[in-house]
Amino acid sequence: MTKITCDICMDLMPLVRDVVASEDSKNAVMNHISDCEDCKKIYDEMYINNKSIIEDDDIPKSINIDKVAKKVEKKINKYLGMIIMFGIFFGLSLTASEEMFLNSFIMPIIGAFGYYLFRWKAAYTVPCIIVISNFIINGIGFLRGVAHLDIMSMVMWGSVYSLFAIIGTIIAGLLHFGLRKE
Ligand SMILES: [Zn+2]
Repeated sequence: MTKITCDICMDLMPLVRDVVASEDSKNAVMNHISDCEDCKKIYDEMYINNKSIIEDDDIPKSINIDKVAKKVEKKINKYLGMIIMFGIFFGLSLTASEEMFLNSFIMPIIGAFGYYLFRWKAAYTVPCIIVISNFIINGIGFLRGVAHLDIMSMVMWGSVYSLFAIIGTIIAGLLHFGLRKE
């Protein structure tokens, strides 16, 4: 085995690190650092730095882009979801108010949909959307002169709808956890 000096070893180390060194050079470096504590330290550092360069720079860049894209997509989905929910409430408000009780059975589905979009945050975001929609729908009805402002019924139906929606959210959440464990 050829003995090499520290200088030669240092010259060769980058080549070994980049896996472009010849078998002989690699053996010479390995042989040298098994005896030379100083060069071994430098070699280890080089190797760790090389690794961290790869891990911190190259791969995560593409992952970061993916992450950002996913985040944006999630946000868009959430806004779309809110718009859809508002749409549903407006649709429901067009049906006769005697069917309000029937409407409350649609709320668990909306709650479950909310879980899909917001996860456990749906437990308060969906009721918020329900209450706000309720106010907007009633306000529009009042301004058009087709409804009177009935705070009591607004509060009542807001609570009933919210309660049903939360039940839907909880069921969806439990199903989600149950399915994930299997
Ligand atoms: Zn050395």
